[in-house]
Amino acid sequence: MAVWEIEEIFSDILDRAKSLDPVNTRQWFDKLNVAQLDGGSLVISCPDDSTVQFLRANCQTSFLRSAQQITGHLVTVDFVVDDKNQTNLSFDQPDENIGFKQNPDYTFDNFVVGPSNRLAHASCIAISQSPGNTYNPLFLYGSSGLGKTHLLHAVCCETRNRFNGAVIQFLSCEDFVNRFIHAIEQGNLAGFQSQFRTVDTLVIDDVQFLSEREQSQTEFFHTFNALYNSGKQILLSADCAPNEIPSLEQRLISRFSWGLVARVDPPTYETRAAIVQKKAHLRGLEISEEISEYIAKKVCTNIRELEGALTTIYAVAMTSNAPITLELAKLALDGQVSIATRHISITDIINVVTKYFDVRLTDLQSKKRSQSITMPRQICMYLARNLTKHSLEEIGGHLGGRDHTTVMHACNKIAEIEKTDEKVKNMLSDLAKKITESNPTN
Ligand code: ADP
Ligand code: MG
Repeated sequence: MAVWEIEEIFSDILDRAKSLDPVNTRQWFDKLNVAQLDGGSLVISCPDDSTVQFLRANCQTSFLRSAQQITGHLVTVDFVVDDKNQTNLSFDQPDENIGFKQNPDYTFDNFVVGPSNRLAHASCIAISQSPGNTYNPLFLYGSSGLGKTHLLHAVCCETRNRFNGAVIQFLSCEDFVNRFIHAIEQGNLAGFQSQFRTVDTLVIDDVQFLSEREQSQTEFFHTFNALYNSGKQILLSADCAPNEIPSLEQRLISRFSWGLVARVDPPTYETRAAIVQKKAHLRGLEISEEISEYIAKKVCTNIRELEGALTTIYAVAMTSNAPITLELAKLALDGQVSIATRHISITDIINVVTKYFDVRLTDLQSKKRSQSITMPRQICMYLARNLTKHSLEEIGGHLGGRDHTTVMHACNKIAEIEKTDEKVKNMLSDLAKKITESNPTN
């Protein structure tokens, strides 16, 4: 295959993967390149190690399905760091035992600051600039979904960027407890202790998990003392204040409050709207303020639900091939459109398009190349590619046995026209609407 052909197929695969899994779509997908596409193997090169980790953890399935749908073959998918950026690798690579898996979403840049989280945010910035010297320990608490884990990640990320070589241990409290139990079972308590007592920054998420676990509390107490006494940074989070964690030893409650205890509250309306904008941008979507304000009004408490609302709207827009308008957002969030039940077939599309242009299926399948036939034919291909999960080959098969490059060419052509011609754009969204409405399984 020619290079341009590989690149076009890859761009299709990327688009399809985005529509298969809008939740995990990110703006930086545009920086992905194809390193190899042959012999049933697709290798994607990524800007750095954290993006490779993100894709392997979250997007393996959607990329695999997409690659198989677009090429019509069984293809394996792997992600690698771009050769050009390999020099950064040792710095970014997490150690198997110590360290943390970086989530590229959870940075300070991607965190929206407002009155509800200002103190927590400022103190996190302070400890990542000068670990062990400002607030020690720093204890963040608040209900679920308010950004505590996000801030903890951001601290680790920032600390690592500033202090090359700093040893950071970040884990959930549950993980800490499990590793402790495992160490006892294996008779390797000394190994466990040296692993946790020799770090520069210890970050433990959800310490309410220590509740009623006496032995783990004792171990944690000693770990805490060892680190604290040698001026190492300790950062903790929980879903409630230290003195509200059920059956937590008094000596731990007291130590947890030695530094700074910062509460994270539910975000205000303005913060929620700004978070929606930020999350949309992160996924490469532009939405109007009117829409982010609508979502912020509708979803008041948990930020995870705000993201969920955005995802629903995006998914509805993708399946109905319509732009994200306020009207669509309202429909999507009112649950009037159920995405899960949509099953559009190529036949549904052909039926609507032939009726609209007053042409016959046999014409679309024929070799005729007059404008009055090629246009509807190409529109069928374009809509089939966007509204169904069929491969380029399958779409070509329904339209007179055309090969995948012809279908790809048609899709690109219509997409180009759609960008510049308002009339065509409206016609396409009109057709998409008719197709979804005509769909009997809807
Ligand atoms: P918690 O640990 O408090 O339960 P998380 O840190 O897991 O909450 O946050 C849930 C989701 O909300 C994450 O996707 C996170 O990025 C997002 N989030 C929370 N607060 C903010 C914020 N202020 N700005 C941007 N995203 C946020
Ligand atoms: Mg959390």
